[in-house]
Amino acid sequence: RREEMQKKYDDENERGGLMPMLREVSRQEYLRKREDKKIQELEDELEDAKYLFAGVQLTQREQDDLRYKEEVLRLAKEKQRLMNAATEDGYRMPDSYDEPTKYATRYDVAKLRYSEPEGAAARANPHAEQEAWEAEQLKKTHVTRVGAQDGGAAAPQYDFVFEDSMDFVKADMLAGNIEDFFETPEERKKKEAEARALAAKSERDRIQEGRRQLPVYPYRDALLEAVEAHQILIIVAETGAGKTTQVPQYLHEAGYSAAGKIGCTQPRRVAAMSVAARVAHEMGVKLGNEVGYSIRFEDCTSDKTILKYMTDGMLLREFLSEPDLASYSVMMIDEAHERTLHTDVLFGLVKDIARFRPDLKLLISSATLDAEKFSEYFDYAPIFKVPGRRYPVDIYFTKAPEADYIDASVQAVMRIHVLEPEGDVLVFLTGQDEIEAVEELLRQRMRGKGTQLAEMIICPIYANLPSELQAKIFEPTPPGARKVVLATNIAETSLTIDGIKYVVDPGFAKQNSYNPRTGMESLVVTPVSKASANQRAGRAGRTSAGKCFRLYTAHSFENEMEDNTVPEIQRTNLGNVVLMLKSLGIHDLMNFDFMDPPPAETLLRALEQLYALGALNDKGELTKLGRRMAEFPLDPMLAKTLIASETYKVSEQIATVCAMVSIGSSVFYRPKDKAVFADNAHKNFSRGGVGDHIALMAVYDGWAESNFSTQWCFENYVQVRSMKRARDIRDQLVGLMERVEIEMVGDPTEHDAIRKAIASGFFYHTAKLQKDGTYRTIKNPQSVHLHPSSSLLQLLPRWVVYHELVLTSKEFMRTVSEIKPEWLVEIAPHYYNKKDIL
Ligand code: ADP
Ligand code: MG
Repeated sequence: RREEMQKKYDDENERGGLMPMLREVSRQEYLRKREDKKIQELEDELEDAKYLFAGVQLTQREQDDLRYKEEVLRLAKEKQRLMNAATEDGYRMPDSYDEPTKYATRYDVAKLRYSEPEGAAARANPHAEQEAWEAEQLKKTHVTRVGAQDGGAAAPQYDFVFEDSMDFVKADMLAGNIEDFFETPEERKKKEAEARALAAKSERDRIQEGRRQLPVYPYRDALLEAVEAHQILIIVAETGAGKTTQVPQYLHEAGYSAAGKIGCTQPRRVAAMSVAARVAHEMGVKLGNEVGYSIRFEDCTSDKTILKYMTDGMLLREFLSEPDLASYSVMMIDEAHERTLHTDVLFGLVKDIARFRPDLKLLISSATLDAEKFSEYFDYAPIFKVPGRRYPVDIYFTKAPEADYIDASVQAVMRIHVLEPEGDVLVFLTGQDEIEAVEELLRQRMRGKGTQLAEMIICPIYANLPSELQAKIFEPTPPGARKVVLATNIAETSLTIDGIKYVVDPGFAKQNSYNPRTGMESLVVTPVSKASANQRAGRAGRTSAGKCFRLYTAHSFENEMEDNTVPEIQRTNLGNVVLMLKSLGIHDLMNFDFMDPPPAETLLRALEQLYALGALNDKGELTKLGRRMAEFPLDPMLAKTLIASETYKVSEQIATVCAMVSIGSSVFYRPKDKAVFADNAHKNFSRGGVGDHIALMAVYDGWAESNFSTQWCFENYVQVRSMKRARDIRDQLVGLMERVEIEMVGDPTEHDAIRKAIASGFFYHTAKLQKDGTYRTIKNPQSVHLHPSSSLLQLLPRWVVYHELVLTSKEFMRTVSEIKPEWLVEIAPHYYNKKDIL
């Protein structure tokens, strides 16, 4: 079997099917690319030097060095000119590829790239060929599906793992030269010797050695000088260069921590935790002591903490208690390119603070190169650019659009596992549910293949994953095995996993989308931008040459994907942020210094909603209720619900409900082979069928009664991890409720009171049943549906309140409870009148 595989593999190679097409691409082309790259690097370096040394008196040596580099650049350009002249007839495909073999099409895109399109038609539409091909391909899939008698065209080649075949077209190559792809025996020997020497050293030395090998290390001193010289500095370096883990340590080593804490923000919780853990390890201290992190509902810092990693949202909250960030000497706004809502608001706040705190150092760091925008915003702050070390990545597109990217991801991973040389795989998925599905499918495919295939170590990573399991993704892969990391967007720039050689990119991510006209907000699986796709591909080339398999066509990349992701501030509900800014005393939001202002309509909506909830008065000023709401790190609707629970005397129950809805959709567990048992167990929680909120509360109460037992979770098909998180969140919420003096009382059988409290916060999120069995939102009518996971699916109550909308194939209401329409008039008389509830 093994021999047969090997032979198939070799045959494929012969035909240029699977390996990078490098051997066939002319040596000339490579040399030219290498020159281009060299020139680009030199130009970048000289450009950087101009920035860095502007107004600085250079030493003789530095001057000589610059002059030398200028001369090298001149010579390189001359050489390039000569080389271009020599190959003026352009790049030609080897003759054999004119044969109409199956594999010739892989070169289509490459041909377009390397040779002038011939004829006006080709010039007018460079994608014509690809479009025609895709149309043809779509037709074929249709035909085979309808009458698959012959099935000859798609005969499986690797029958024992591939039921169907997926074809990729090679498209692009990031700069690089041929030598990078093949290790010479000397290089290998050298590497092995280095590895042996390193292994012999103590753990401590090894860590320090590792730190010195990161791309930022050679720039350590220059960076420290630049920080010394400027109050605000923009740092740009490739992902994995060491911005997040190293720069704060450098600043600490240089003594900045003596004057105050060094803070570093991250857009994602998992990143904040994982990076803090890594830095604590590098510094040889216990996490939570000198190095700590702070994320919503979890503070892992102490009085000793000098390096503090935190989510951008947490820093925003810190402004409420410390508006001048007095306890910090340095603040690093990391991953600025992500442009999350909170990061964007922070920009405005820290820019303001920097004016009256000249001693505060501000670093804005970003993984993408268009940092000019940041520089401009921060009054032309200098840009410190660390040149990247990046290996070439071959990019492959599918030849035809993929109908199901989950399935396609599984196929792609299997294909890599069977056919590609050693190296770990990273798959980008949109969320926990998809990750779990792919994990399960991969395990199925690998079952019983132990003797035929190398071991596959599957590592999921997403926000709700407990930290012990998060650490697993960083563990080195044992020889002979292959690690497959299934990650959300988090692995795009926030986390760097060494050893990744293959990236599988379905091209989607979950995004907020908000329509200020209707006030509808939902989470939508959206195609990523080109910039994101390129970041993802880059993950394959960090430690050696790699490959990226995109599960979409080159045509859709070119024509259907946006260049850049729209900043979150322009596509989300601003209720929370407006409440926060109001509590900080920032009243004039229209003139707040946003880098990219949100649409005026969105701001007005947020003000209107806060007014309806009672957080603002009719002059737009914060009310007492608003001030209490701002204490909670929650959406204003949830905060209002918590406070309203006091009126209805069910604060204990509402604390539980809020904690349960805050953990997301991952409470119940439904293994396919035991679905009936699981469904029965879950039905037990429905408590008379009044809705999902009460059911969630019943789950928590049941677990609490069992004394928080894991066995109980097991028996009831409930996810113990999610429950533990709910318990942490609940504890924190109760703490905060006590702080704003809400009396903790309640009765779990008071279902009406509980639902009234929920409706007090969520009266915006209400819908009414239609004749056809669908629902319509009450104000700004929109068609919505019960989520299939809802316990109300068979009951279809007439009026409902829902927690959130999720847009997949339709707009689904998730976590839904029945309400009585007259409650709405009672609870929100300024918003609903009798007419609305007829
Ligand atoms: P950047 O912020 O520039 O993207 P980082 O500072 O996050 O870079 O990463 C620098 C290096 O540290 C990377 O090579 C990465 O693999 C390594 N690293 C980061 N976190 C961990 C971790 N938890 N375990 C092991 N290595 C890590
Ligand atoms: Mg980073």
